[in-house]
Amino acid sequence: MRILCALLLLSFSVSSAAQTSSSSQSSEFPKEIPSFDLTAIDKTVDPCVDFYQYSCGNWMKNNPIPPDKSSWGRFYELRERNVYVLHDILEQVQTPAQRSPIQEKVGDYYAACMDEATIEKKGTEPLAPTMKAIAALNSKQQLIPQVSAMQRDGIRVLFSFGQMPDMHDSRQTIANLDQGGLTLPDRDYYLKDDAKSVETRQKYVEHVQKMFELAGDKPDVATAEAKTVLAIETALAKASMDRTVRRDPHTRDHMMTVTEVAASAPNFQLTEFFADSGAPKFTSLNVSNPDFFKAVNDQISSTSLDDWKVYLRWRTLDTYAPTLTKAFVDEDFQFNGAYLSGQKEIEVRWKRCVASTDRNLGMALGQLYVDKTFGPEGKERTLKMVQAIEAAMHQDIGQLTWMSDTTKQKAYEKLNAIVNNIGYPDKWRDYSSVVVTRDDYAGNVERGSAFEVQRQLNKISKPTDKKDWGMTPPTVNAYYRANMNDINFPAGILQPPFYSQNMDDAVNYGGIGMVIGHELTHGFDDQGRKYDADGNLKDWWTAEDAKAFEERAGCIADEYSGFVAVKDDKGEVKLNGKLTLGENTADNGGLKLAYMALMNIVGNTPVKPIDGYTPQQRFFIAYGQIWCENRTDQQARKLAIIDPHSPGRWRVNGVVQNSAAFQQAFGCKAGQPMVRQNACRVW
Ligand SMILES: [Zn+2]
Repeated sequence: MRILCALLLLSFSVSSAAQTSSSSQSSEFPKEIPSFDLTAIDKTVDPCVDFYQYSCGNWMKNNPIPPDKSSWGRFYELRERNVYVLHDILEQVQTPAQRSPIQEKVGDYYAACMDEATIEKKGTEPLAPTMKAIAALNSKQQLIPQVSAMQRDGIRVLFSFGQMPDMHDSRQTIANLDQGGLTLPDRDYYLKDDAKSVETRQKYVEHVQKMFELAGDKPDVATAEAKTVLAIETALAKASMDRTVRRDPHTRDHMMTVTEVAASAPNFQLTEFFADSGAPKFTSLNVSNPDFFKAVNDQISSTSLDDWKVYLRWRTLDTYAPTLTKAFVDEDFQFNGAYLSGQKEIEVRWKRCVASTDRNLGMALGQLYVDKTFGPEGKERTLKMVQAIEAAMHQDIGQLTWMSDTTKQKAYEKLNAIVNNIGYPDKWRDYSSVVVTRDDYAGNVERGSAFEVQRQLNKISKPTDKKDWGMTPPTVNAYYRANMNDINFPAGILQPPFYSQNMDDAVNYGGIGMVIGHELTHGFDDQGRKYDADGNLKDWWTAEDAKAFEERAGCIADEYSGFVAVKDDKGEVKLNGKLTLGENTADNGGLKLAYMALMNIVGNTPVKPIDGYTPQQRFFIAYGQIWCENRTDQQARKLAIIDPHSPGRWRVNGVVQNSAAFQQAFGCKAGQPMVRQNACRVW
């Protein structure tokens, strides 16, 4: 299990461009994205009334969501550009002659994905071995070994098993057992009773039925099977812990011996499962949610073997649908892309194949990407900004009025220990053991997934590998890991609109500067503050300072709980202030730190306005414009449930309302909407 605080929802990196990516579907290379865009600004709006509308109003009007996307914004534009860069790379390595081993690997993987004729010819044949094994099960005793075999192929089924640094000794990596096995994006989809949730379950059952029919089942059989799937997954959902509750790492901290956990849920045959799993030997492990295993233990015995087989077949179909024939791909898109996310069209094939290559051979493709786009000077200039913002955080901690000197010393220790990773890993991942052929796309995906599962399990019972990256280099995102105490900026984000060599410091600090500040602040948000300088779950706060922090964080949670995420004919959904607390804290702190760092450079020396804006104003507008976006109502609704980040509008307005520097820069007065009466401030 990774504790990874990203700048954006992780699944929206290039890796899932399949569900998010281009309008025209043309192959015209997108232009460089401006870091400071005068044409985006809506001057009919008062910045003190609605700053997001001011910064992005014209952009939103002029940039409707492309039909093959569910959201569109400045981030997505940059992702799209990266997808084109990767596409060029992959096209260039198609000719068999004179390719390096990694060019050959990614080139053949991409070619197999593009070869739709071969994929059509094979039909469901790639699934045959798994389907046959499921059909052959003839006792409950064989259920868990089959689950194990499927998990090793990357099929998320019944529960999840992986690795994590020991919460109390992060130098050591241990095994981790967790809830899992759901298909819909969150347990809420199974458990809520509002009209929209009821409709979604009905659509889901229809979708499962269609997929079983595509796999060859008769309609009446498929109808019954779909109901079985929903019943089993609903029981798993009931046993699952709520996403918001899980934010507190203490709720997931349960060291157990193998003997203990196996005895607590005997039907899981865990001793046998661990031995089969491919993991190195271990005698104790963390169990994130022991109650899940106790609850589902009864379900294993009370559900018939035939019903379990239906569920296993479904998880196989759902996982591999995107690799199969057009009929499977389209049905998968109709539910996940069109219905759940509001996307009108599926992306063109080549974009989906670029995303798939990034997903399964991402560090090989990333190596080629870095060679082409990112030199050592990129690393150097980013490091300089990181250091400037770390210095600002040091200064900021020193000025806090609510924190005692005792806790401040510990906070400095933690800040000084943060490791900065920029661009790409020091050592590239070795994919030489992954077999890739030009005529077996589903097989390539399966072997790629199996490689990654095994690579993760190999970490168990070993010293923690802090050098292993959680994102591929072309990804437009960034992250902080509490148990590693490191901040990470993939090469993909270190370009316009986040960073531009042609822009003034004000604009770059409002862009990538804020991103750096955001990731640093994660080390000190509601989750991050519970880990110490070494990445261990250890309380370093005095009781009084912890209380002061909770009060201040509570202010942010209340503020964002009042913001509307979506309002449509299905009703209004507000943000979950507790789910988004860490990200909102990081946005508020990040912007403050970036501003302090900028002021340390610009100082009080008068600077001539550029385009009619002072450096302070340019800083805030650059920040606002990073978050310009449009979302479908469906996507906004989905993200309100699963995304710990707030939508663009509130990432901007929610923060500037609390910022005296913003209000000063634009001359806002008390009583105006962008001046919050009781401003929240943690960092
Ligand atoms: Zn974040």
